[in-house]
Order: sequence, then structure tokens, then C-alpha cells
Amino acid sequence: MTILTNLKTIAARSPWLYRINSGSCNGCDVELATTALIPRWDVERLGCQYCGSPRHADIVLITGPLTRHVRDAALRLYEEIPDPKVTVAVGVCPISGGIFRESYATCAPIDQFLPVDVNIPGCPPRPQAILEGVAKAIAIWRERL
Ligand code: SF4
Repeated sequence: MTILTNLKTIAARSPWLYRINSGSCNGCDVELATTALIPRWDVERLGCQYCGSPRHADIVLITGPLTRHVRDAALRLYEEIPDPKVTVAVGVCPISGGIFRESYATCAPIDQFLPVDVNIPGCPPRPQAILEGVAKAIAIWRERL
């Protein structure tokens, strides 16, 4: 096995997660923190870990309805994530705008601006749904390697 194949095998087991808040009410972000920090849910048992830089990320979790205020910054961050990235829309806000869908200040649905691979509906989604969505994202990411 070559060094490159070895690295690919190791990397395939260990995707990095990155979170973008595109103007959420923070409800979804609290649930993401719950799945990350509380041992009962513990998203890291799926073999992934949060990172602090978009340049290190493999899977991006986006919350919020993409407000006009943060749209350009959020899309710039998204572009900094290297391919093959997997995009997860967390909560109904990025999927449809949710309770903000008729607001002048939001741009949702977010899939008008970037490709979404996994939708996790809910307002906010339950931790079980977030774990299931992250597991789906990891499976998609491994197929793309
Ligand atoms: S889906 Fe609900 S909880 Fe999540 S950011 Fe939107 S309003 Fe808040």
C-alpha cells in the first residue's frame, strides 16, 4: 500500500466538521453543541471532530436562513472549504427559511446559493436527527474520496 493510499484510508475514517451560522436564532446551534458536548449523544463517536478553520473542514453544517447581513461572509467561508466537501442544512431555516421565510432580510432556501447534500429538518432538529444527518454526510463524504 502506498503512502498516499494509507493517508487516504486514515482520512476516510476521520472527517472534520465545520459549522457556519448563517443568521440562525441559535436554537439549532444549541442542539449542535448538545450533540458535540454531551456524552449521551457524542457526535465524535461517529469518527468525526469539529475544527476551527474552513480550510481543514470536510463536512459543513449550516444553520440559519442565510440573512442578507451575513450572506456574503457565509458564502465566502463556504468557498474556503476544500472539495470534496459535504454540505448539511441543519434546521428548517436553511431548507425553506422556516419562520423567517417571508422576511425581507433572509435569502433562504440556501440551496439557491450552494449545493446541499443532506437536509436535517426540525425547528430545531432533535439530537437524534442531527446524529443521523451527520452519519449520512460521512457516508457521502467517504464515497467522494
Ligand atoms: S430552524 Fe428553528 S431553531 Fe433552527 S435557527 Fe431556524 S428558527 Fe432557530
